[in-house]
Amino acid sequence: MKYTLDQLNAYAKRYGFIYQGSEIYGGLANTWDYGPLGVALKKNIKNLWWEVFVSKNPNNVGIDSSILLNPKTWEATGHVSGFKDPLMDCKICKARHRADNLIARATKGAVDADGWDYQTMQDYITEHKINCPNCGGFDYTPIREFNMMFKTKQGVTTESTSDIYLRPETAQGIFLNFKNVQRTSRMKVPFGIGQIGKSFRNEITPGNFIFRTREFEQMELEFFCKPGTELEWFKYWKQFSLDFLTKVGLKSESIKLYDHPEEKLSFYSNATTDVLFNYPWGFDELWGIASRTDFDLRRHQEYSGHDLEYLDPQTNESYLPFVIEPALGVERLLLAIIIDSLEEEQINENETRTLLRISKELAPIKIAVLPLVKKYQGEKSKAVYQQLIEDFEVSYDDSGNIGRRYRRADAIGTPYCVTIDQQTLEDDTVTVRERDSMLQIRLSLTKLNEYLRLELKK
Ligand code: ATP
Repeated sequence: MKYTLDQLNAYAKRYGFIYQGSEIYGGLANTWDYGPLGVALKKNIKNLWWEVFVSKNPNNVGIDSSILLNPKTWEATGHVSGFKDPLMDCKICKARHRADNLIARATKGAVDADGWDYQTMQDYITEHKINCPNCGGFDYTPIREFNMMFKTKQGVTTESTSDIYLRPETAQGIFLNFKNVQRTSRMKVPFGIGQIGKSFRNEITPGNFIFRTREFEQMELEFFCKPGTELEWFKYWKQFSLDFLTKVGLKSESIKLYDHPEEKLSFYSNATTDVLFNYPWGFDELWGIASRTDFDLRRHQEYSGHDLEYLDPQTNESYLPFVIEPALGVERLLLAIIIDSLEEEQINENETRTLLRISKELAPIKIAVLPLVKKYQGEKSKAVYQQLIEDFEVSYDDSGNIGRRYRRADAIGTPYCVTIDQQTLEDDTVTVRERDSMLQIRLSLTKLNEYLRLELKK
Protein backbone atom coordinates (compact mmCIF):
# COMPACT_ATOMS: atom_id res chain seq x y z
CA MET A 1 0.00 0.00 0.00
CA LYS A 2 1.23 3.48 -0.80
CA TYR A 3 0.84 5.90 2.09
CA THR A 4 0.07 9.56 1.56
CA LEU A 5 2.34 12.19 3.06
CA ASP A 6 -0.35 13.03 5.63
CA GLN A 7 -0.53 9.40 6.70
CA LEU A 8 3.25 9.19 6.98
CA ASN A 9 3.31 12.39 8.99
CA ALA A 10 0.59 11.08 11.33
CA TYR A 11 2.43 7.76 11.75
CA ALA A 12 5.73 9.52 12.48
CA LYS A 13 4.11 11.72 15.08
CA ARG A 14 2.03 9.04 16.73
CA TYR A 15 4.99 6.80 17.49
CA GLY A 16 7.48 9.52 18.37
CA PHE A 17 9.61 9.60 15.23
CA ILE A 18 9.01 13.17 14.06
CA TYR A 19 7.13 16.16 15.49
CA GLN A 20 6.33 19.56 14.06
CA GLY A 21 9.08 21.99 15.17
CA SER A 22 8.15 24.56 17.88
CA GLU A 23 4.70 23.02 18.05
CA ILE A 24 3.55 24.64 21.29
CA TYR A 25 4.11 28.08 19.75
CA GLY A 26 1.99 27.19 16.76
CA GLY A 27 4.93 25.65 14.95
CA LEU A 28 7.62 27.05 12.69
CA ALA A 29 6.78 26.09 9.13
CA ASN A 30 8.85 23.30 7.62
CA THR A 31 10.90 22.59 10.72
CA TRP A 32 10.79 19.15 12.25
CA ASP A 33 12.02 17.69 15.52
CA TYR A 34 13.06 14.09 15.88
CA GLY A 35 11.57 12.24 18.84
CA PRO A 36 13.02 9.23 20.68
CA LEU A 37 12.54 6.82 17.78
CA GLY A 38 13.37 9.37 15.10
CA VAL A 39 16.69 10.31 16.63
CA ALA A 40 17.57 6.63 17.10
CA LEU A 41 16.73 5.86 13.48
CA LYS A 42 18.66 8.90 12.24
CA LYS A 43 21.69 7.86 14.29
CA ASN A 44 21.53 4.32 12.93
CA ILE A 45 21.35 5.61 9.36
CA LYS A 46 24.30 7.93 9.88
CA ASN A 47 26.31 5.26 11.66
CA LEU A 48 25.74 2.83 8.83
CA TRP A 49 26.71 5.39 6.18
CA TRP A 50 29.80 6.30 8.20
CA GLU A 51 30.75 2.66 8.54
CA VAL A 52 30.26 1.83 4.86
CA PHE A 53 31.75 5.03 3.41
CA VAL A 54 34.35 5.93 6.03
CA SER A 55 35.35 3.86 9.03
CA LYS A 56 35.28 0.44 7.37
CA ASN A 57 36.28 1.71 3.96
CA PRO A 58 40.03 1.52 3.34
CA ASN A 59 39.77 4.14 0.54
CA ASN A 60 38.34 6.89 2.71
CA VAL A 61 38.80 8.90 5.90
CA GLY A 62 36.48 11.25 7.78
CA ILE A 63 36.29 14.87 8.88
CA ASP A 64 34.01 17.15 10.87
CA SER A 65 34.49 20.72 9.64
CA SER A 66 32.84 23.95 10.78
CA ILE A 67 29.44 25.13 9.65
CA LEU A 68 30.81 28.69 9.55
CA LEU A 69 33.58 29.03 7.00
CA ASN A 70 35.63 31.99 5.89
CA PRO A 71 33.20 33.89 3.59
CA LYS A 72 35.80 33.87 0.83
CA THR A 73 35.01 30.18 0.49
CA TRP A 74 31.61 31.00 -0.98
CA GLU A 75 33.00 33.61 -3.31
CA ALA A 76 35.47 31.07 -4.64
CA THR A 77 32.81 28.43 -5.25
CA GLY A 78 30.43 30.88 -6.91
CA HIS A 79 27.76 30.45 -4.22
CA VAL A 80 27.65 34.19 -3.45
CA SER A 81 26.99 35.09 -7.05
CA GLY A 82 25.35 31.95 -8.34
CA PHE A 83 23.52 29.89 -5.69
CA LYS A 84 20.23 31.35 -6.76
CA ASP A 85 16.76 30.19 -7.60
CA PRO A 86 14.21 31.92 -9.85
CA LEU A 87 11.56 33.31 -7.52
CA MET A 88 8.03 34.33 -8.52
CA ASP A 89 5.32 35.62 -6.19
CA CYS A 90 1.65 35.14 -6.84
CA LYS A 91 0.23 38.65 -6.48
CA ILE A 92 -3.18 37.29 -5.53
CA CYS A 93 -2.42 34.86 -2.70
CA LYS A 94 1.22 35.87 -2.04
CA ALA A 95 2.44 32.29 -2.39
CA ARG A 96 6.07 32.04 -3.50
CA HIS A 97 7.09 29.73 -6.27
CA ARG A 98 10.21 28.57 -8.02
CA ALA A 99 9.56 29.29 -11.69
CA ASP A 100 11.16 26.00 -12.85
CA ASN A 101 9.01 24.08 -10.36
CA LEU A 102 5.83 25.73 -11.67
CA ILE A 103 6.71 24.44 -15.13
CA ALA A 104 7.69 20.97 -13.93
CA ARG A 105 4.49 20.67 -11.94
CA ALA A 106 2.21 21.90 -14.72
CA THR A 107 3.78 19.49 -17.22
CA LYS A 108 3.94 16.61 -14.73
CA GLY A 109 7.72 16.55 -15.06
CA ALA A 110 7.71 16.36 -18.86
CA VAL A 111 9.41 19.75 -19.20
CA ASP A 112 12.56 20.34 -17.16
CA ALA A 113 13.23 24.08 -17.03
CA ASP A 114 16.18 23.79 -14.65
CA GLY A 115 18.99 25.72 -16.30
CA TRP A 116 16.79 27.79 -18.64
CA ASP A 117 17.35 31.53 -18.62
CA TYR A 118 14.74 33.51 -16.72
CA GLN A 119 13.15 35.09 -19.78
CA THR A 120 12.52 31.69 -21.36
CA MET A 121 10.90 30.46 -18.13
CA GLN A 122 8.78 33.59 -17.87
CA ASP A 123 7.65 33.27 -21.51
CA TYR A 124 6.80 29.60 -21.07
CA ILE A 125 4.65 30.32 -18.00
CA THR A 126 2.82 33.12 -19.83
CA GLU A 127 2.33 31.20 -23.09
CA HIS A 128 1.03 28.11 -21.34
CA LYS A 129 -0.92 30.13 -18.79
CA ILE A 130 0.37 28.15 -15.82
CA ASN A 131 -1.85 29.06 -12.89
CA CYS A 132 -0.76 29.44 -9.28
CA PRO A 133 -1.01 25.95 -7.71
CA ASN A 134 -2.08 27.58 -4.47
CA CYS A 135 -5.02 29.80 -5.51
CA GLY A 136 -5.52 29.02 -9.20
CA GLY A 137 -4.94 32.66 -10.17
CA PHE A 138 -2.67 33.96 -12.91
CA ASP A 139 -0.97 37.16 -11.80
CA TYR A 140 2.72 36.84 -10.96
CA THR A 141 5.58 39.20 -10.24
CA PRO A 142 8.43 38.96 -12.75
CA ILE A 143 11.08 36.37 -11.91
CA ARG A 144 13.67 37.60 -9.42
CA GLU A 145 16.92 35.99 -8.36
CA PHE A 146 16.93 34.69 -4.83
CA ASN A 147 20.14 33.65 -3.09
CA MET A 148 19.55 30.58 -0.98
CA MET A 149 22.42 31.05 1.45
CA PHE A 150 21.52 32.05 5.00
CA LYS A 151 23.46 35.18 5.80
CA THR A 152 24.13 36.23 9.35
CA LYS A 153 26.51 38.49 11.25
CA GLN A 154 29.44 37.48 13.34
CA GLY A 155 31.00 39.69 15.98
CA VAL A 156 29.73 41.54 19.04
CA THR A 157 29.70 45.25 18.27
CA THR A 158 27.98 46.82 15.28
CA GLU A 159 31.30 48.17 14.00
CA SER A 160 33.12 44.89 14.20
CA THR A 161 30.44 42.60 12.76
CA SER A 162 30.95 41.01 9.40
CA ASP A 163 28.74 38.99 7.12
CA ILE A 164 29.03 35.27 7.35
CA TYR A 165 27.05 32.39 5.86
CA LEU A 166 25.67 29.15 7.20
CA ARG A 167 27.07 26.50 4.88
CA PRO A 168 24.66 25.33 2.17
CA GLU A 169 26.60 22.06 1.75
CA THR A 170 29.18 20.19 3.80
CA ALA A 171 31.46 19.61 0.81
CA GLN A 172 33.45 22.83 0.99
CA GLY A 173 34.78 22.13 4.49
CA ILE A 174 36.29 19.02 2.95
CA PHE A 175 37.95 20.89 0.07
CA LEU A 176 39.42 23.51 2.40
CA ASN A 177 41.02 20.69 4.39
CA PHE A 178 42.13 18.57 1.47
CA LYS A 179 45.82 19.23 2.07
CA ASN A 180 45.57 18.93 5.87
CA VAL A 181 43.85 15.58 5.66
CA GLN A 182 46.02 14.22 2.88
CA ARG A 183 49.23 15.09 4.71
CA THR A 184 48.25 14.10 8.22
CA SER A 185 46.55 10.85 7.29
CA ARG A 186 49.21 10.08 4.65
CA MET A 187 46.51 9.07 2.18
CA LYS A 188 47.51 8.65 -1.42
CA VAL A 189 45.30 9.65 -4.34
CA PRO A 190 42.86 8.05 -5.08
CA PHE A 191 41.19 8.50 -1.70
CA GLY A 192 38.07 10.08 -0.28
CA ILE A 193 37.03 12.27 2.64
CA GLY A 194 33.56 11.79 4.13
CA GLN A 195 31.55 14.13 6.31
CA ILE A 196 28.15 14.15 7.98
CA GLY A 197 26.69 17.44 9.12
CA LYS A 198 24.04 20.11 8.99
CA SER A 199 23.53 22.31 5.97
CA PHE A 200 21.23 25.27 5.50
CA ARG A 201 19.45 26.58 2.43
CA ASN A 202 16.85 29.28 2.36
CA GLU A 203 14.66 27.24 0.05
CA ILE A 204 11.88 29.15 -1.70
CA THR A 205 9.48 26.27 -1.58
CA PRO A 206 10.29 23.96 1.30
CA GLY A 207 7.76 21.22 1.89
CA ASN A 208 6.75 17.63 1.33
CA PHE A 209 7.24 16.89 5.02
CA ILE A 210 10.97 16.33 5.71
CA PHE A 211 11.92 16.12 2.01
CA ARG A 212 12.80 19.78 1.51
CA THR A 213 13.63 21.84 4.58
CA ARG A 214 15.83 24.84 5.23
CA GLU A 215 17.93 23.01 7.78
CA PHE A 216 18.96 19.46 6.96
CA GLU A 217 21.78 16.96 7.29
CA GLN A 218 24.01 15.72 4.54
CA MET A 219 26.28 12.72 4.23
CA GLU A 220 28.85 13.62 1.62
CA LEU A 221 31.92 11.99 0.22
CA GLU A 222 34.49 13.84 -1.87
CA PHE A 223 36.62 11.28 -3.63
CA PHE A 224 39.89 12.58 -5.08
CA CYS A 225 41.36 10.84 -8.10
CA LYS A 226 43.83 11.37 -10.89
CA PRO A 227 42.50 13.40 -13.85
CA GLY A 228 41.51 11.03 -16.62
CA THR A 229 40.36 8.30 -14.19
CA GLU A 230 37.32 10.20 -12.94
CA LEU A 231 34.68 8.60 -15.14
CA GLU A 232 35.74 5.12 -14.00
CA TRP A 233 35.48 6.24 -10.39
CA PHE A 234 32.17 7.93 -11.12
CA LYS A 235 30.84 4.57 -12.28
CA TYR A 236 32.31 2.87 -9.23
CA TRP A 237 30.72 5.26 -6.69
CA LYS A 238 27.39 5.18 -8.49
CA GLN A 239 27.23 1.42 -8.12
CA PHE A 240 28.58 1.59 -4.58
CA SER A 241 25.84 4.06 -3.66
CA LEU A 242 23.13 1.88 -5.21
CA ASP A 243 24.44 -1.09 -3.24
CA PHE A 244 24.16 0.99 -0.09
CA LEU A 245 20.50 1.69 -0.84
CA THR A 246 19.88 -2.03 -1.22
CA LYS A 247 21.62 -2.59 2.09
CA VAL A 248 19.34 -0.12 3.88
CA GLY A 249 16.35 -1.99 2.47
CA LEU A 250 15.04 0.20 -0.35
CA LYS A 251 13.22 -1.74 -3.04
CA SER A 252 14.78 -1.75 -6.50
CA GLU A 253 11.47 -0.72 -8.08
CA SER A 254 11.42 2.40 -5.87
CA ILE A 255 14.66 3.67 -7.37
CA LYS A 256 15.38 5.25 -10.74
CA LEU A 257 18.48 6.89 -12.12
CA TYR A 258 18.49 10.18 -13.96
CA ASP A 259 21.69 10.82 -15.90
CA HIS A 260 21.96 14.51 -16.64
CA PRO A 261 22.21 15.03 -20.40
CA GLU A 262 25.33 16.86 -21.48
CA GLU A 263 23.59 20.16 -22.11
CA LYS A 264 22.16 20.10 -18.57
CA LEU A 265 25.41 19.46 -16.74
CA SER A 266 26.69 22.18 -14.41
CA PHE A 267 29.59 23.94 -16.09
CA TYR A 268 32.10 22.25 -13.75
CA SER A 269 30.74 18.72 -14.10
CA ASN A 270 31.48 16.11 -16.75
CA ALA A 271 28.95 13.57 -15.43
CA THR A 272 26.06 13.78 -12.97
CA THR A 273 23.45 11.25 -11.96
CA ASP A 274 20.53 11.82 -9.63
CA VAL A 275 19.30 8.77 -7.79
CA LEU A 276 15.54 9.24 -7.64
CA PHE A 277 13.19 7.61 -5.16
CA ASN A 278 9.48 7.04 -5.60
CA TYR A 279 8.06 9.40 -2.94
CA PRO A 280 4.27 9.76 -2.54
CA TRP A 281 4.26 12.61 -5.11
CA GLY A 282 6.39 10.66 -7.62
CA PHE A 283 10.08 10.13 -8.34
CA ASP A 284 12.29 12.85 -6.85
CA GLU A 285 15.95 13.33 -5.94
CA LEU A 286 17.32 11.29 -3.09
CA TRP A 287 21.04 11.30 -3.85
CA GLY A 288 23.12 13.43 -6.19
CA ILE A 289 26.29 11.90 -7.61
CA ALA A 290 28.54 14.24 -9.56
CA SER A 291 31.92 14.20 -11.20
CA ARG A 292 33.07 17.74 -10.32
CA THR A 293 36.43 17.83 -12.14
CA ASP A 294 39.01 19.92 -10.23
CA PHE A 295 36.65 22.92 -10.07
CA ASP A 296 36.51 23.33 -6.28
CA LEU A 297 40.20 22.76 -5.56
CA ARG A 298 41.20 25.00 -8.46
CA ARG A 299 39.00 27.84 -7.27
CA HIS A 300 40.16 27.55 -3.65
CA GLN A 301 43.75 27.47 -4.83
CA GLU A 302 43.14 30.62 -6.82
CA TYR A 303 41.25 32.51 -4.11
CA SER A 304 43.40 31.44 -1.14
CA GLY A 305 46.76 31.57 -2.85
CA HIS A 306 47.62 28.18 -1.33
CA ASP A 307 49.04 25.41 -3.44
CA LEU A 308 46.49 22.59 -3.32
CA GLU A 309 48.21 20.31 -5.82
CA TYR A 310 48.99 16.75 -4.96
CA LEU A 311 52.46 15.41 -5.53
CA ASP A 312 52.28 11.83 -6.71
CA PRO A 313 55.14 10.06 -4.85
CA GLN A 314 55.44 7.39 -7.52
CA THR A 315 55.59 9.51 -10.66
CA ASN A 316 56.71 12.78 -9.06
CA GLU A 317 53.91 14.42 -10.97
CA SER A 318 52.01 17.32 -9.40
CA TYR A 319 48.34 17.84 -10.19
CA LEU A 320 44.99 18.99 -8.85
CA PRO A 321 42.92 15.85 -8.30
CA PHE A 322 39.51 15.44 -9.92
CA VAL A 323 36.61 14.78 -7.61
CA ILE A 324 33.60 12.45 -7.48
CA GLU A 325 30.91 13.53 -5.04
CA PRO A 326 28.07 11.31 -3.84
CA ALA A 327 25.92 13.71 -1.73
CA LEU A 328 23.01 12.27 0.21
CA GLY A 329 20.45 13.90 2.54
CA VAL A 330 19.85 12.09 5.84
CA GLU A 331 16.20 13.11 6.09
CA ARG A 332 15.40 12.19 2.48
CA LEU A 333 16.86 8.75 3.09
CA LEU A 334 15.03 8.36 6.39
CA LEU A 335 11.75 9.22 4.69
CA ALA A 336 12.47 6.76 1.86
CA ILE A 337 13.26 4.01 4.36
CA ILE A 338 9.99 4.53 6.23
CA ILE A 339 8.02 4.62 2.96
CA ASP A 340 9.53 1.35 1.72
CA SER A 341 9.28 -0.42 5.10
CA LEU A 342 5.83 0.53 6.31
CA GLU A 343 2.94 -1.75 5.48
CA GLU A 344 -0.49 -2.78 6.64
CA GLU A 345 -0.38 -6.56 6.78
CA GLN A 346 -3.43 -8.79 6.78
CA ILE A 347 -2.73 -11.41 9.45
CA ASN A 348 -6.05 -13.24 9.40
CA GLU A 349 -9.54 -12.74 8.08
CA ASN A 350 -10.45 -9.88 10.39
CA GLU A 351 -7.15 -8.53 11.56
CA THR A 352 -4.42 -6.38 10.15
CA ARG A 353 -1.28 -5.03 11.73
CA THR A 354 0.91 -2.02 11.00
CA LEU A 355 4.38 -3.34 10.34
CA LEU A 356 7.61 -1.44 9.85
CA ARG A 357 9.65 -4.05 8.03
CA ILE A 358 12.88 -2.14 8.55
CA SER A 359 16.28 -3.85 8.49
CA LYS A 360 17.38 -5.10 11.89
CA GLU A 361 20.46 -2.92 11.71
CA LEU A 362 18.44 0.26 11.37
CA ALA A 363 15.58 -0.61 13.71
CA PRO A 364 15.51 2.09 16.43
CA ILE A 365 14.83 -0.51 19.12
CA LYS A 366 16.11 -4.05 18.75
CA ILE A 367 14.22 -5.83 21.52
CA ALA A 368 11.08 -5.13 23.53
CA VAL A 369 10.89 -6.73 26.98
CA LEU A 370 7.30 -7.50 27.92
CA PRO A 371 6.03 -9.04 31.16
CA LEU A 372 2.84 -10.97 30.45
CA VAL A 373 1.32 -9.73 33.71
CA LYS A 374 3.14 -6.84 35.31
CA LYS A 375 1.95 -7.66 38.81
CA TYR A 376 3.47 -11.14 38.77
CA GLN A 377 6.39 -10.94 36.38
CA GLY A 378 7.34 -7.26 36.63
CA GLU A 379 10.35 -7.77 38.83
CA LYS A 380 11.75 -10.65 36.81
CA SER A 381 11.19 -8.67 33.62
CA LYS A 382 13.25 -5.77 34.94
CA ALA A 383 16.10 -8.21 35.55
CA VAL A 384 15.80 -9.49 31.96
CA TYR A 385 15.80 -5.89 30.73
CA GLN A 386 19.02 -5.27 32.67
CA GLN A 387 20.56 -8.39 31.19
CA LEU A 388 19.77 -7.27 27.63
CA ILE A 389 20.50 -3.56 27.91
CA GLU A 390 24.20 -4.41 28.28
CA ASP A 391 24.26 -5.51 24.64
CA PHE A 392 21.30 -4.00 22.77
CA GLU A 393 18.89 -1.09 22.44
CA VAL A 394 15.99 -2.40 24.49
CA SER A 395 12.60 -1.04 25.49
CA TYR A 396 10.47 -2.08 28.42
CA ASP A 397 6.71 -2.04 28.16
CA ASP A 398 4.36 -3.39 30.82
CA SER A 399 1.09 -1.57 30.18
CA GLY A 400 -1.89 -2.81 28.19
CA ASN A 401 -2.66 -6.27 26.93
CA ILE A 402 0.12 -8.29 25.38
CA GLY A 403 -1.44 -8.29 21.92
CA ARG A 404 -1.45 -4.49 21.83
CA ARG A 405 2.15 -4.37 22.96
CA TYR A 406 3.16 -6.75 20.16
CA ARG A 407 1.35 -4.51 17.70
CA ARG A 408 3.17 -1.44 18.90
CA ALA A 409 6.52 -3.23 18.63
CA ASP A 410 5.63 -4.32 15.07
CA ALA A 411 4.56 -0.81 14.12
CA ILE A 412 7.92 0.69 15.09
CA GLY A 413 9.91 -2.16 13.56
CA THR A 414 11.27 -3.84 16.71
CA PRO A 415 12.70 -7.14 15.43
CA TYR A 416 12.26 -9.17 18.66
CA CYS A 417 9.92 -9.26 21.62
CA VAL A 418 10.97 -11.12 24.74
CA THR A 419 8.00 -12.10 26.89
CA ILE A 420 8.27 -13.09 30.53
CA ASP A 421 5.46 -15.28 31.84
CA GLN A 422 4.63 -17.57 34.76
CA GLN A 423 6.89 -20.31 33.42
CA THR A 424 9.85 -17.90 33.43
CA LEU A 425 9.59 -17.70 37.21
CA GLU A 426 9.78 -21.49 37.38
CA ASP A 427 12.46 -22.40 34.85
CA ASP A 428 14.19 -19.20 33.67
CA THR A 429 12.98 -19.51 30.10
CA VAL A 430 11.36 -16.75 28.04
CA THR A 431 9.44 -16.48 24.78
CA VAL A 432 11.20 -14.81 21.88
CA ARG A 433 8.88 -13.58 19.14
CA GLU A 434 10.20 -12.59 15.74
CA ARG A 435 8.60 -9.53 14.11
CA ASP A 436 8.03 -10.58 10.48
CA SER A 437 7.05 -14.24 10.92
CA MET A 438 5.49 -13.72 14.38
CA LEU A 439 6.96 -17.13 15.24
CA GLN A 440 7.76 -17.73 18.89
CA ILE A 441 10.38 -19.92 20.46
CA ARG A 442 11.16 -20.72 24.07
CA LEU A 443 14.69 -20.04 25.21
CA SER A 444 16.71 -20.20 28.39
CA LEU A 445 17.83 -16.87 29.83
CA THR A 446 21.42 -18.05 29.82
CA LYS A 447 21.31 -18.36 26.02
CA LEU A 448 19.24 -15.26 25.32
CA ASN A 449 21.90 -12.61 24.64
CA GLU A 450 24.00 -14.84 22.43
CA TYR A 451 20.95 -16.00 20.46
CA LEU A 452 19.76 -12.43 19.85
CA ARG A 453 23.25 -11.24 18.97
CA LEU A 454 23.46 -13.84 16.20
CA GLU A 455 19.90 -13.30 15.00
CA LEU A 456 20.30 -9.53 14.82
CA LYS A 457 23.34 -9.95 12.60
CA LYS A 458 21.42 -12.03 10.05
P1 ATP B 1 17.10 19.57 -5.15
O1 ATP B 1 17.25 19.56 -6.65
O2 ATP B 1 16.08 18.60 -4.62
O3 ATP B 1 16.96 20.95 -4.58
P2 ATP B 1 19.92 19.58 -5.06
O4 ATP B 1 20.24 18.97 -6.38
O5 ATP B 1 20.01 21.05 -4.88
O6 ATP B 1 18.48 19.06 -4.57
P3 ATP B 1 22.36 18.80 -3.86
O7 ATP B 1 22.92 20.16 -3.83
O8 ATP B 1 22.87 17.84 -4.88
O9 ATP B 1 20.77 18.88 -3.95
O10 ATP B 1 22.48 18.18 -2.39
C1 ATP B 1 22.76 16.82 -2.17
C2 ATP B 1 21.66 16.14 -1.39
O11 ATP B 1 21.33 16.87 -0.21
C3 ATP B 1 20.34 16.01 -2.14
O12 ATP B 1 20.37 14.91 -3.01
C4 ATP B 1 19.38 15.80 -1.01
O13 ATP B 1 19.40 14.45 -0.55
C5 ATP B 1 19.95 16.68 0.09
N1 ATP B 1 19.26 17.99 0.10
C6 ATP B 1 19.52 19.06 -0.68
N2 ATP B 1 18.70 20.08 -0.39
C7 ATP B 1 17.90 19.66 0.62
C8 ATP B 1 16.85 20.25 1.38
N3 ATP B 1 16.48 21.51 1.19
N4 ATP B 1 16.24 19.50 2.34
C9 ATP B 1 16.63 18.23 2.57
N5 ATP B 1 17.62 17.61 1.90
C10 ATP B 1 18.26 18.30 0.93
